[in-house]
Amino acid sequence: MELFETLSEMGHEEIVFLHDDDSGLKAIIAIHSTVLGPALGGLRMWPYATEADAMTDVLRLSRGMTYKAAVSGLNLGGGKAVLIGDPETSKSEGLFRNLGRFIDGLGGRYITAEDVNTSVDDMEYVLMETDYVVGVPEVHGGGGDPSPFTAYGTLRGIEACLMRKYGSTDMDKLSFAVQGVGHVGAHLVRMLRERGGKVFVTDINQERVQQMVDELGAEAVPMADIYDVDANVYAPCALGATINENTVPRLKCDIVAGAANNQLETTEWGTALEERGIVYAPDYAINAGGLMNVAVELQGYDQERAYRMVKGVYDNIERIFRISMRDSIPTWQAADRLAEERIESVRKVRAKFNRGQKSMLGDRGLNL
Ligand code: NAD
Repeated sequence: MELFETLSEMGHEEIVFLHDDDSGLKAIIAIHSTVLGPALGGLRMWPYATEADAMTDVLRLSRGMTYKAAVSGLNLGGGKAVLIGDPETSKSEGLFRNLGRFIDGLGGRYITAEDVNTSVDDMEYVLMETDYVVGVPEVHGGGGDPSPFTAYGTLRGIEACLMRKYGSTDMDKLSFAVQGVGHVGAHLVRMLRERGGKVFVTDINQERVQQMVDELGAEAVPMADIYDVDANVYAPCALGATINENTVPRLKCDIVAGAANNQLETTEWGTALEERGIVYAPDYAINAGGLMNVAVELQGYDQERAYRMVKGVYDNIERIFRISMRDSIPTWQAADRLAEERIESVRKVRAKFNRGQKSMLGDRGLNL
């Protein structure tokens, strides 16, 4: 990989390599953009087969965070950190405290959080060395489990889709096929049922499915059949890439709107949904509730403020629809455009001289 060529192509600002033999720390932080604010993104721990794999992952994920924060109206940029190692055997206090020290050295340009294979407990060690960490335990002012917020944002995104497709957000005559009833999916099923929707569920874990049937009156369907269910909305809440060559022709729904990351195997399947007249809520915009919840920690956590912000996922999805119609482009592309337009408009705002900004006039104590 020609590194600087890649950075220029993907638009990254800064890459930092962290290393410490004593604790076995090997990590990469990628700061994609700080135009909107400090680069926020989780710390992923993974036993990458090669260093190049770790680099590819951190570059891709950090860029994704820029877009997610931008469409969500947050004053945050995009970044990510990857920690190379086995989460089962390589975690230690020293590892996370070392990492915290390095993050502190970046002076707030990067803010970390938990992610795949890192936990609230790991963040507690990071917090011992730096304040630039969110998703910390509630006793330290954290927002707790992000899943209910992600689920509520997903519900609001579904409502925006219903409004676009049917001109109403009423759910009592509608049906929903929820794939995956884990942390996010289970909350979503409950909220859909509370609003009178008929809900079909599936999961690898049969106990979870049974719980949804017994406690919430959902209807179970076999895993392989979820794409064929005759429901108004398909809500992927399990794994990525479920919108692909095999599934698009099978879908009977009018709307695809769920919490899973990277739902489109490739963007061409997002275009294919559009061509079939299926409304697609771009994944990184509809599932931003968890990010919003941790972002609130930066101002002093307040649950009411977090829910108010997450409620706005409806407006974010609506904005994407408006751009999609304005420019006659599929919604996946409209989401990217919304993010890019917001970053550009803020870049222009920031280009103007402002009092308090360090100026080229030098520092002579003038109150400019
Ligand atoms: P989770 O692991 O708690 O739940 C996922 C569920 O999907 C599990 O119950 C699992 O058994 C099930 N599953 C896995 N493969 C399946 C398959 N092939 N068919 C049916 N079910 C299957 O995860 P989660 O936290 O609920 O997150 C769900 C999705 O939302 C993930 O893609 C995640 O990346 C994304 N997401 C989550 C959050 C959050 O706040 N938790 C935020 C943004 C995005």
